[in-house]
Amino acid sequence: IRPRPSVLHAFRDAVRTRPDRPAIVYFDGRLTYREADELSDGLAGHLAARGFRPGDRLAIMLQNTPHFVLALLGAWKAGGTVVPVNPMYKAGELGHILADAEVSALVCAAPAWEGYVRATAAASPARIALTADPYDFQTRDDPRVLSGGRALAPEDTDDLLAAARGGARPPAVPEPGRDDIALISYTSGTSGTPKGAMNTHGNIAYNAERQCVVHALPDGSVIFALAPLFHITGMVCELATSLAEAGTLALACRFEPGVVLDAFAEHRPAYTVGPSTAFMALMAHPAATRDHFASFRLISSGGAPLPPALVERFEAAFGPYIRNGYGLTECTAPCASVPPGTRAPVDPDSGTLAVGVPGPDAVVRIIDDEGRDVPFGQHGEIAVRGPMVVPGYWRQPEAGATALPDGELRTGDIGFMDPDGWLYVVDRKKDMINASGFKVWPREVEDVLYTHPAVREAAVVGVPDPYRGETVKAYISLRPGAEAAPEELAAYCAERLAAYKYPRRIEILPELPKTASGKILRRELRQAPRPRE
Ligand code: ATP
Repeated sequence: IRPRPSVLHAFRDAVRTRPDRPAIVYFDGRLTYREADELSDGLAGHLAARGFRPGDRLAIMLQNTPHFVLALLGAWKAGGTVVPVNPMYKAGELGHILADAEVSALVCAAPAWEGYVRATAAASPARIALTADPYDFQTRDDPRVLSGGRALAPEDTDDLLAAARGGARPPAVPEPGRDDIALISYTSGTSGTPKGAMNTHGNIAYNAERQCVVHALPDGSVIFALAPLFHITGMVCELATSLAEAGTLALACRFEPGVVLDAFAEHRPAYTVGPSTAFMALMAHPAATRDHFASFRLISSGGAPLPPALVERFEAAFGPYIRNGYGLTECTAPCASVPPGTRAPVDPDSGTLAVGVPGPDAVVRIIDDEGRDVPFGQHGEIAVRGPMVVPGYWRQPEAGATALPDGELRTGDIGFMDPDGWLYVVDRKKDMINASGFKVWPREVEDVLYTHPAVREAAVVGVPDPYRGETVKAYISLRPGAEAAPEELAAYCAERLAAYKYPRRIEILPELPKTASGKILRRELRQAPRPRE
């Protein structure tokens, strides 16, 4: 695989060779490569005129709308780094990221700006704000656009599309190099403070090209973004991959099964990737038919365990075989996938479906606590080296030294390799909870719980959930004399944390189990028998 230095290079090639091909389709709206180029040029020029300089950070807090792609290209054309932010984030979560990444510009949906974003941005280093109207680009009254209603862009922001159409010339900055930082992708990590993985342009260009080659995607394919673009899977496997093969990126604002099925019928995508729960939701939708999936050459799942029974039922009902894939933010999405023409084996002992075969340039080792290779079949930590692995974390060299010794990524996932080269993920060394592919770090939820006056001790764990795979559960002990009902504590967290992070279940115990040194035994709670429901 010989990728270009950045996907911006790939985009420019597509603009030259296929200017009239649709780059983005969104409901009944479309943008050709030429139009996307002109609009992102205008945006780059606008940002530069507002004082955005090469190396500056622009946060994009949007659902899957065309503005996301334009803002990304505009920031890269202005020499900037993009910080994707989950639009579900509440003020505290957003504020952390804006401050840590020292962003100078922010893009968000107009209704969100009217809510808490304006106040959060005012207290942050961001000095440029652009708002995006999700109804842009398509029939104004299409009821399928789901983003909480429209709002007028207020005076202290610029409307993104108007800015893009303003005709400003992009600044004369050098094209991105392989080692330049394209994205800062935040994961909360074990410390509770956000950690920004720095994905370089080279990391992204490599993995986008890898997707095209490994999955044999034909040039110009329609790729449907089932995963959110603010997440590394959507960003790389869908957005960047579609640019790398001069393809068409089909967007539908956010995941709503009925809307997604309509979009499949309308845009006839050849490829998509999403978490296993998205496929469960699509399968459960009463309108879903085989025909909705007839255009797909390939469907992949990634980011969360894929139950083998789901693969079988989906194939029997709709035709496509869902291919598993494995990756992390720190390896810029996938580093192992199921090669075309093969089917992932199931481990007879654990019933786990293999996540794929590592490669082509990802070197995966299974290691013990001392970093030594363990034999085939034996469990150990998965470690990855290769051109997709990030060089480190934003302004946190110590975090990089721990997670990336000598540039090899310690994933915190426990797995094994079979003699045929298939990789299996069976457990986690890290405390992360995986709820429908959304990652929750217990420490962040515990930190919020500890700010509640009634809470003495808090320990947050993942517990099995039939739909999400895992859901967040908090064990609490209260201060002497204090009273708080589980519902009240849950509501307290829901006000402060994105919906997928707050504890859906709370159990109050007189005392939490601890080691002799007083450390709460989270693992013990994770394995505690589930209460009768
Ligand atoms: P991917 O690139 O595979 O979509 P991701 O984009 O979800 O991963 P993160 O949000 O960083 O990236 O989450 C990575 C974690 O998700 C891994 O460390 C692992 O615990 C879990 N994970 C990813 N893929 C799989 C899989 N196929 N099976 C089981 N767990 C997985």
